Amino acid sequence: MNENIDVLFSQEVLENRIKEIADKINEEYKGKKLHMVCVLRGAVFFFTELCKHINVPVTMDFLVCSSYGSGTTTSGEVKIVKDLADPIAGLDVILVEDIVDTGVTLNALKPMLMTRKPASLKIATMLDKPSRRRVVLEPDYCAFEVDDLFVIGYGLDYDQKYRNLPFIGVYKGE
Ligand code: IMP
Repeated sequence: MNENIDVLFSQEVLENRIKEIADKINEEYKGKKLHMVCVLRGAVFFFTELCKHINVPVTMDFLVCSSYGSGTTTSGEVKIVKDLADPIAGLDVILVEDIVDTGVTLNALKPMLMTRKPASLKIATMLDKPSRRRVVLEPDYCAFEVDDLFVIGYGLDYDQKYRNLPFIGVYKGE
C-alpha cells in the first residue's frame, strides 16, 4: 500500500452505502423512469455502482465539465467540455457527481441543464465537503460527508492519478 495514502472508505463500506442510496432512489422514483447523467471523469465508479442497483427503467448519458486543471485548487471557471449526447427535456434526471467541494461546479452546471427543461433535476454525490462550500448548494443524495481533506480513489484523482483505486483514501502528498 502507498504510504502517502490513508484508507478512508473501503470498497465494502462504499458499496454498502451506495446500495442504500440506490434503495432510497428506487423508493422515490417508483413507477417513473430515470435518466442518469454521469459527470466524468471522477463520478464514473460511483455512477456505475449506483446504476447497478436502480430498479426503475434507466437511461444514461455522460458529460465532461472543466473543474480543477491540475493539483488541488479550483480554477473557479466552469465549462461543459463534452456535452450530453441526448436532450433531457421532460426527463427525470439525476446528475451524478464525485464530490461537492466549493460547490462552484454544480452551481454553474445545474442552471445550464435547467435551461433544457428536464421534468426534474436532482444531484447525487458520492462525497460532500460542506466546510469548503463557497455557494449555497445542497446535494439531494450523498453517500458520505468528509472533512477538509484531499481524497483520491474510486474515480477521484490527484493530477489524473489514483482514479483506479477501489477505495477512497486521503492523499497526504508525494
Ligand atoms: P467544486 O466545484 O469545488 O465543488 O469541485 C469540483 C470538482 O473538484 C469535483 O467534482 C472534483 O472532481 C474535484 N475535487 C474537489 N475536491 C476533491 C478532492 O478532495 N479530491 C479529488 N478531486 C476533488
